[in-house]
Amino acid sequence: MRNLFTFLIAVAALALGGCAVNPVSGKQDFVMMSEQQEIALGRASDVEVRKQYKVYANPALQSYVSRVGQKVATHSHRTNIRYTFTVLDSPEINAFALPGGYVYITRGILAYLNSEAEMAAVLGHEVGHVTARHGVRQQSAAQAANIGISIASILVPELNTQAGHDLSNLLGGALLSGYGREHELESDRLGAQYLARTAYDPQAMIRVVGVLKNQELFDAEIAKQEGREPRRYHGTFATHPDNDTRLQQVVGEASGLTVANPTEGKSEFMKQTEGLVFGDSVEEGIVRDNRFLHKDLGIALTFPPGWNIKNSTTQLFALSPQVDAAIQLKIDDKPSGNVTEYTRRVLGKDADIETLEIEKLHAAIGTTGKAVLGVVYFDRKAFHIVGNAKTPATLEAQRNTMKETIRSFHVLTDDEKKAIKPLTIKLITAQKGESYAKLAQRSPLGKNAESYLRLINAQYPQGEPATRQILKIIE
Ligand SMILES: [Zn+2]
Repeated sequence: MRNLFTFLIAVAALALGGCAVNPVSGKQDFVMMSEQQEIALGRASDVEVRKQYKVYANPALQSYVSRVGQKVATHSHRTNIRYTFTVLDSPEINAFALPGGYVYITRGILAYLNSEAEMAAVLGHEVGHVTARHGVRQQSAAQAANIGISIASILVPELNTQAGHDLSNLLGGALLSGYGREHELESDRLGAQYLARTAYDPQAMIRVVGVLKNQELFDAEIAKQEGREPRRYHGTFATHPDNDTRLQQVVGEASGLTVANPTEGKSEFMKQTEGLVFGDSVEEGIVRDNRFLHKDLGIALTFPPGWNIKNSTTQLFALSPQVDAAIQLKIDDKPSGNVTEYTRRVLGKDADIETLEIEKLHAAIGTTGKAVLGVVYFDRKAFHIVGNAKTPATLEAQRNTMKETIRSFHVLTDDEKKAIKPLTIKLITAQKGESYAKLAQRSPLGKNAESYLRLINAQYPQGEPATRQILKIIE
């Protein structure tokens, strides 16, 4: 597909130096692309997005999101193009727009929103990127510098997630770098206007930025636990939205358009998103306590208690509590030779290799000074369970723990496969004296459950439920 993009970019480049009227400003823009070219580029990129992500399989929710999105788009500066709004089956907290009117919102971000107005704010912000032609303007700048396409990401400019990297590679190795402060503010301003014209409260835009800011604060907390760099969310900046005067100002501009009783749509939104999948989808494999289960691969693996399991579409690994050792699962689709030879080929001739059976499967455990590698042959694949550590001494200390994880390799029975269900959002009414600490004790979300519950209910970092408040919990 890369060729198609090259082609499109080449086509677009023929119009080099052309100007077009910007739908928002009414002024001439230096862009290299006509509207038809923009739509063709959007359509081709949409195909790529749909390969990279799955569309969330819930027609009722898709049509709800689309209905709200279309309403907002109808009140935008650019009503002559056809908009599409698609919910993606991804736990990432994200939304983005492609040139030509293709808007995407993840189920991941929907879980953290609390009203239809907030969802409309996310969609309105993305429609703002489309109407102001940020993608096209950036695309033109990129072409001028001979780099590829850009996607308007509301959140993580570098999209430092695997899907982001894949997408970025796919789309020509270039910019997912977001739009920078000015374009983001412009989209917030436009989104707020469209909200007001659609009879939603434009202040919902500020609440959404608050949701993102809280994610950033929470991620900083987790990053500290995991000893990594915190994630940067674009569209959020150093200050909290409550103190962000420019954000307050651009959203405040829409107040003149506000209707007397704007729609909040809280209960409708809650109803529509009840049952929404939270976290890993079954296709990616699920994590329960220290166990990883993958339905399609048909396997389970039990990691050491207290280790932190990280699962995404493309990788699975667990980190020791001290963040000085890791165990990773990898798969080789085309192993050859017997398992002992195979393991020796991977590790080199100096490795100590022990051959064994795990649940009657051919397996081997190889050890070197740098790694412990378990290989299990199952279903014509070689499953690698790889243990590494920061120092040889740590590896030595963790060797038996790693071997235990290797020996925990388990082939799922049909009943076990059937029992694999994703976590979902459920609504409850808070009883008197309910607290997030108490709810966290009954939650399957693990050690950060209290923070997650506060985040999904917009009461992070310190809030507590009020009596009879409708609460989202995860089951
Ligand atoms: Zn944005």
